[in-house]
Order: sequence, then C-alpha cells, then structure tokens
Amino acid sequence: MKNISILGSTGSIGKQTIEVIRDNPSLFRVNAITANSSIDELVSQILEFSPKLACIYDCSKLDILYNKLKERSPDSKTELVCGMDGLIKAAVSENTDILVTSVVGMIGLIPTLKAIEKGTTIALANKETLVTAGHLVMKSAVQYGAAIIPVDSEHSAIYQCLQGENAAEVSKLILTASGGPFRGMTRQQVSAMKKENALKHPNWSMGQKITIDSATLMNKGLEVIEAKWLFDKEPENIEVVVHPQSIIHSMVEFKDRSVKAQLGSPDMKLPIQYALTYPNRIDIKQKGLDFFNMSSLTFEKPDTEVFPCLRLAFEALKNKGTFLTVMNGANEALVYEYLKGNIGFYDISDIIEDAMLRHDYILNPDLQEILDADKWAREFVDKRIKNFN
Ligand code: NAD
Ligand code: MG
Repeated sequence: MKNISILGSTGSIGKQTIEVIRDNPSLFRVNAITANSSIDELVSQILEFSPKLACIYDCSKLDILYNKLKERSPDSKTELVCGMDGLIKAAVSENTDILVTSVVGMIGLIPTLKAIEKGTTIALANKETLVTAGHLVMKSAVQYGAAIIPVDSEHSAIYQCLQGENAAEVSKLILTASGGPFRGMTRQQVSAMKKENALKHPNWSMGQKITIDSATLMNKGLEVIEAKWLFDKEPENIEVVVHPQSIIHSMVEFKDRSVKAQLGSPDMKLPIQYALTYPNRIDIKQKGLDFFNMSSLTFEKPDTEVFPCLRLAFEALKNKGTFLTVMNGANEALVYEYLKGNIGFYDISDIIEDAMLRHDYILNPDLQEILDADKWAREFVDKRIKNFN
C-alpha cells in the first residue's frame, strides 16, 4: 500500500490521480490533499478518502471549509490548514510515499523542494517548478536521494523508452507536440482568434493555463526545458516534432540511430498511473489502441514565426539562469491576463521577450534570486499592461 499526497488535488491532473487511486484501493491510499479555492471538491475528496491533512491555499476560505466539513462529517479527523505553510505541510506530511505535484505554476517550487529534502519520491506534473529552478530541484533530488518520476505525457514516454537503456547512449530526445488549436494558421489568422478558440484543445482536456500554453506552443517550450533537467540533455539534442494525432507521446533516438517511441491514447491516466506504480505496470480501465481504425500518423516542423514562444523557450534554455525564471514568471502572469481578456495572443510572446531582454541576468541563481527574478517578471508584466489602458 502506497500513501499518496497530492498538491492540487482538485485540478485536471489532481482529479485524474484521484481516479487512479479510486480504481486501485488495494494499492493506494490518499494521505494529504490541497486545493487553491475549490472548497466543494475538496470537501467531497475529504469525505471519500479521509486524508490525514487537507489544505485550502486561500486562507480566507478556511472557516468555510471547516464548517462545511463539520456539517457533513462532524467526526472528521482530517487536519485542515491553509496558505503556503499549509501547502508545505501537505508536501512533507508524514508517511507520504509519493507526492504528486499537480498545482499549476511556480507556486509549487518551495513545497516540492521541501518534499525532496525529506527524500520523498515526486511524481512531477508541475512543470513550471523545473522550468523556473531546474538546477536547484535536480541538485537537491540527487543530494537527498529523492526520485523524480515524470507525469507529463511526453516525459513519461521518454522515461518509459529509457528503461533498460544506458542514458549515455541517447543521441536525441524527440518531443511530440499536437500543434494546438491554431496549427497550420498564419499569424494574421491566429491574431483574429478569440480566447474561446484558444481554449479548445484538439486532443487533450486540461486546466486553462496549460491549454493556453498549448495554443502558444509555450507548453512545448516548457517541456523542452523540463526534458533538459529530467534527462540531462542540451537544447541541441532535444527536437520538437508536431504530431497532430497525439498517439506517439515522444521518442528517444540512440547513438546507433535506433528510435524508440511510446504510444497510447491521449489520456493522462496512463502516465499518472505509471508514475504511481513504477517500476511495475498494472491494468487500466482504458481501451487499447486500435491500429486498424487509426488515421495516419503525420509529422511536421513547428512554425516558430507563428508560435514565437517555442523559439523564446529554446533561447532561454541556451542562456539558462534567470532567463528561464523570467520567461516562466512573465508567461504565467501574461496567460492570466489573456484569460481575463486584457491582452491579445501575440502580446504574450512580445512581452515575454521584452522581459527576458531587460532583466538583470544571473547565471546560477539561488532560491532567493529565483523568487526575486520571478517577482520582477510579474511586476514587469503588470507595468506593461497598465500602459495599455
Ligand atoms: P488545473 O488548473 O486544472 O489545476 C491546478 C490545481 O492547482 C488545482 O487543484 C488548483 O486548486 C491548484 N492551484 C492553482 N493555483 C494555486 C495556487 N496559487 N496555490 C495553490 N494551489 C493552486 O491544472 P492542471 O491542468 O491539472 O495542471 C497542473 C500542472 O500539471 C501544470 O503545471 C500543468 O502544466 C501540468 N500538466 C497538466 C496536464 C494536463 O493534462 N492537465 C498534462 C501535463 C502536465
Ligand atoms: Mg505534455
């Protein structure tokens, strides 16, 4: 029996993790859960799994959470906490075998680092943590002997392809990308698209931030950076291939030019389950691929003129240090402004590029320097957007 704690249990990945646990009650138990502000979902998860601890990040909602829970379950023994302290408490909660990091954004950085310091195995979905501070996270993981198992489907695919292989014999990582809802369009066509179009991903159903990142191709950029840190490869050995069917989840090319790929339906439950059962595999409630009824599998070059965020991510990765932090922080802030309808699609890449060029660069930032650079990037975005109005 493995005790699973989940940061962001009410989100898209969090709820699918809960489904995997629900489907396998003899293998997994829920230990600690957290939500930003979705009280009703959190209460129903507490009622179903009786975790040791539950955190609501928004402290103004702690009383409401307490009252709602007492009303439905007066004898509940679940400890209720809030804020960053609460998130950290959940991350380091006693007896956690695997921490699933499925919060969105670099808010997951400090709790993840704290869990790593305890040697806890991390099932990592929260890619922004690796993008903003990959060098610190990976160094800590080695220092404290904490395994990091990827949940992101591309990285899970690569991780699966690497089983039984010698990492030194890898010549290239090939990340597949669906291309998002605006694939094949010109800049003019993309400029005319609305937020509602950007939120309609062709293959995957996900949280709003990653869905917009998929439309700009920043998601693939973040994944290139995530791959660099997880698999220790330089940008010139990481290739992005647009594969609109999302059947091949990624590939690894070896020195002898042999290529291994991992295939499956576009459903996150497989990579989540694999991260929880690794190194074993178990049954899943999912149909297998039907090769006879599959459309052809096609491949294209990504268009970085129409989707400049992918180019920016490669540039940030070549420069490393605070380029990565500033790119990530600016992107997070800009995606929320775009979702609020305050800016256009190309303002995202334009302002990220400006922020990257104007910031005070540090090559090997420590944690405080990362937090400062992230704050600077968000303030930079704020100022730029105020000038719009
Ligand atoms: P989501 O928006 O659906 O869920 C986010 C979760 O984090 C929710 O539980 C929310 O309550 C919590 N949260 C949000 N802001 C918070 C804050 N400030 N403080 C504390 N908690 C907060 O997001 P998602 O789609 O599940 O994505 C989560 C992470 O997983 C992201 O980093 C994303 O890039 C990555 N990921 C997602 C998918 C997917 O299919 N959804 C696939 C691969 C990777
Ligand atoms: Mg992915």
